[in-house]
Amino acid sequence: MSTSVVAAFDVGGTSVKAALLDETLRPVATRRQATAHDDTGTALVAQLDKLVAEMSAGAGDVRVEAVGVVVPGVVDEEAGLVRFASNLGWRNVPLPSLLRDRLGVPVGFGHDVSAGGLAEARIGAARDVGSAVFTSVGTGIAAAILLNGMPYRGRGYAGELGHVDIGHGLPCPCGARGCVEAVASARSIAARYSERSGYAVSGALEVVRAWTAGDAHAAEVVDEALSGLARGLRIVTTLLAPEVIVLGGGLFESGPLLLDPLARRLTDSLTFQRPPQLRRAELGDEAGCLGAGLLARDAR
Ligand SMILES: [Zn+2]
Repeated sequence: MSTSVVAAFDVGGTSVKAALLDETLRPVATRRQATAHDDTGTALVAQLDKLVAEMSAGAGDVRVEAVGVVVPGVVDEEAGLVRFASNLGWRNVPLPSLLRDRLGVPVGFGHDVSAGGLAEARIGAARDVGSAVFTSVGTGIAAAILLNGMPYRGRGYAGELGHVDIGHGLPCPCGARGCVEAVASARSIAARYSERSGYAVSGALEVVRAWTAGDAHAAEVVDEALSGLARGLRIVTTLLAPEVIVLGGGLFESGPLLLDPLARRLTDSLTFQRPPQLRRAELGDEAGCLGAGLLARDAR
C-alpha cells in the first residue's frame, strides 16, 4: 500500500527548501535548490512541480495528497495572493491557484515566518500554550501572532514587529525612523559594528563572538540591539499578553547567551504586565518547511 505524504516548500529569495513529509511530519525526502526567478511566479511553479516529481520518484511508493508552500513578503492567505515580495520580485502573484492548476492537488499557502510560528505552536516550543508570539530575528525582524491557537494575520500586514517605533530616531529601509529593525536585525548589528570598529564582519554572529571576547564596540552594538528588541517585546507584551514569546533566527540559536539578558531587560521594563516566558525556537531552520507541511495537511 502506498504511503500518503504531503509536499512542503519553504521558498526564500535565494533558495527553496523542499520535503515530502509523512503522516507524522517526518521527512521521507528532502531537497534544497536555488530559487527559480521570474516576476510572474511561473518559473517557481515549474520548479516546484519538478521537485515533487523528483522527490516522489526517489521515495518509493508514495502518494502526494496535498502541497504546502510558504513565501516571504506580504502574503494574503484569504485572497490567495502574494501581494508583495521584494526578495522574489513579485507583486500580486496568485501562487496557490497557479500551483493547483499545475499539480492538481489541494494547496496550503502561507507566509514563511507565520507558518514557522504555526509549527512552533503545534509541534515546537509553544505546543503547550494557547497564545504565543514567534519572533524571528534575521536579515529583518518579523513576528507571527497566535491567539488562542489561531494565527492572526491581518491579511498579511500583522506582525511587523521590526517596524515598531522605539524612539531611537535612526532611519530604517522602510522609510520611517526609530524602527526596531534599524538597531536589532542581524543585518543592522553587523553594519553598526563595522561602522564603529572600522572592521568589516561577515555577520551578526561574529559581532556576538567579539562581544563575548570583550570587544567594546561589539558590547555597545549588542547592548543597543538587546534594548531595542526588549522595547519591541514590551509593546507586544502590553498589547497581546502572550504566555510565551518564542525567539528564532540564527542569533538566538546560540543558546541562553542573548535570550537571558533579553528576558531580564524585558521583565525589568514591565510594571503591571504579565511577564511572558521567553523560549528559544525548537524547530530551527526546519520551521518554515514543517509549517508548510501543516498547511498542506489542513488543505486536504
Ligand atoms: Zn522600518
